[in-house]
Amino acid sequence: MKSTAAEAFRTAIMPAHARQAVLFAPGDLRLCDFTPPHPGPGELLLPVKCALSCGTDLKTYRRGHPMWRLPTPFGHEFAGVVAATGEGVTGFKIGDDLMAAPTAPCGSCFYCHRGQENLCPQAMEKMVMGAYADFLLLPAPVVARNAFRKPATLSFEEAALLEPLSCIVHAQALARPEPAESVLIIGAGAFGLLHLLTLRAAGVREVAVAGRGADRLEWAGRLGADRVIDIAAGDPAAEVARLNGGFGPDLVMECTGQVDGWRDAFGRVRRGGRVVFFGGCAAGTALEIDTRRMHYDNLTLISPFHFRPRDVRRAYDLLADGRLGAERIINAHRPLTDIAEVFDLLERGAVLKCAVIP
Ligand SMILES: [Zn+2]
Ligand SMILES: [Zn+2]
Repeated sequence: MKSTAAEAFRTAIMPAHARQAVLFAPGDLRLCDFTPPHPGPGELLLPVKCALSCGTDLKTYRRGHPMWRLPTPFGHEFAGVVAATGEGVTGFKIGDDLMAAPTAPCGSCFYCHRGQENLCPQAMEKMVMGAYADFLLLPAPVVARNAFRKPATLSFEEAALLEPLSCIVHAQALARPEPAESVLIIGAGAFGLLHLLTLRAAGVREVAVAGRGADRLEWAGRLGADRVIDIAAGDPAAEVARLNGGFGPDLVMECTGQVDGWRDAFGRVRRGGRVVFFGGCAAGTALEIDTRRMHYDNLTLISPFHFRPRDVRRAYDLLADGRLGAERIINAHRPLTDIAEVFDLLERGAVLKCAVIP
């Protein structure tokens, strides 16, 4: 876009006032007026085209979050259009469609040097919050490391899945599922079902989903689960034991973030198998481990947190490739005005992911 056209574009979409959802306290989410800031060096300002609800948002809405102080602007999964660029930005120009992860590591700390950028303090401390808004400011490290031009073939909604999919890709990079394996996913929420789609795309032989709620279990079946296990009915433990020719699953992905789910995951995996504790539990909770089971059944426990730039890149490639069909996870749409209602819907388990459109 030429500079005069770019300026016209910018003036056309930059109102003096915009709206931004702010979480003041658990359960107290309000839409507030705010003035979109001018981007500083290396930064970008986006009109948000789509923000997605996330299980992490719901947990934070219910009980706060150990990493974030309240009040805080809210929402961290998004895609938008570049409306203004800060000094020194070369990779993007005004008018570009953009997708990004909401964090980026510093690249120079102890963890970054060891390839564990997911643990970089900067990643969480400077996480982009405020995607439930008309405009969002992207900080320089995110623009430099974890932002991409959105392919025209991807909708803004699907592009906004970059962050959750990066978490999935990181977990699977550590778990290394093999095509010949049998995998059990515990939890039929958006994360569990994104794992399902990703495992299916990777050609994993048997994928079972254990969860609760008729709607969610039906979605699991529709999205390709070989077996759907209702943990609130019948004898779920016996059903799981029958997987993998009666040996039990090689790999269990725990996606509930509840201690009961962690306990089940530990108890259900086959001897010599791996457990991935994907869902983080509430602060202060504990899990007691049967040491005999752990050692003599030769279990491997993995607990991936967040993601690294290489996971974001891989997630971007998976989305751009188009084979995942990940947009099927988004099963509700609401205008930004209805943001409080979105959290009511999530509370009731009525939706997997809701697209919030300004
Ligand atoms: Zn998220
Ligand atoms: Zn770092």
